[in-house]
Amino acid sequence: MKFEAIERETVILDPNNNMERKTIPSEIRKDPLTGRTSRICHFMPLKWEKPDFDQLVAGTQEYCPFCPDKVMKVTPCFPEEIVPEGRMVLDDKVLFPNIAPYDSLGACATFSSQHFIPMTEITPGHIVDAFRLAIRFFRRIDEINHPESVYHLINWNYMPASGSSLIHPHLQVFASAYAPNLLQEELNCAKTYFQQKGTNYWDDLVQTEKADGKRFLGKIGRSSWLTVYAPLGVAGDVAAVVDAVNCTLELTDDDVEDLAQGLTRLMSAYDKMGVYNFNMNFFPGARGDDHARFHLVFSPRTFFNQALGTPDIGALRNLYNEGICMAFPEEINEKLKPEF
Ligand SMILES: [Zn+2]
Repeated sequence: MKFEAIERETVILDPNNNMERKTIPSEIRKDPLTGRTSRICHFMPLKWEKPDFDQLVAGTQEYCPFCPDKVMKVTPCFPEEIVPEGRMVLDDKVLFPNIAPYDSLGACATFSSQHFIPMTEITPGHIVDAFRLAIRFFRRIDEINHPESVYHLINWNYMPASGSSLIHPHLQVFASAYAPNLLQEELNCAKTYFQQKGTNYWDDLVQTEKADGKRFLGKIGRSSWLTVYAPLGVAGDVAAVVDAVNCTLELTDDDVEDLAQGLTRLMSAYDKMGVYNFNMNFFPGARGDDHARFHLVFSPRTFFNQALGTPDIGALRNLYNEGICMAFPEEINEKLKPEF
């Protein structure tokens, strides 16, 4: 397994130091599986200001379709051939069709009846139940042999900088025969790796990272947590790989609890940096994909300029899909490690 970094140096005449020569380092890193590159650059302390949450949240409850007084009235229902009861419910969590679908089987699932849950108040219990409800939906569509029951995907946009248009915590839950771009690219590369080496890339990655230690965070049950070598996120990405699981439907209740535990540890660590937005995606294979290994990726999100609402994704990332990370993932690992 190759962890390749191309080191770069930029020389400028520094206006803050009488136009003396100054050398600024940066690094181009290649993802060991796909070869996709990320830039480690723009070095700055990973410290952001949090907003006044009362002010941010004020007034958003009135029009929130996921609040308990509205969720059973304004959200759509599934047709009876998919979910006979229309919506799926687990305590105060509700799963219903996404009114703006991007595939034929899309759902949203709320985390609780609570409109705003600050990141550090999201408990493993919230996540366990929301994931469990989503997996229950996946099992349901699998039982009816739905043709889209191939890749079972959960996406989580938490708070506005992550792409969420609502404060109320919820998951995007969808199953599709078409894996989204990066998942497809990973699966293709992992298949080639499996055919060439006879081993599973993700198992080899976990073993290598564990032995090396610089990016390894720890193990919770069957899930191994590590900072990603060539991240997409500006404050790094963290992956959790679950031993022996290929497809989302193979996750056990224990696995779900371990993933929830790890995610809350990450939230606690990133909160200390002032991060209060994140994305989280599942990266599963299809059933029987021996080259795949279920993993999720947690990616903290922020604003480059909060006052202007400038997102942390610009042209480089949006149109070239080039990751920008403002610290070495090994340094980010040191900040996260105390929680593990
Ligand atoms: Zn709400």
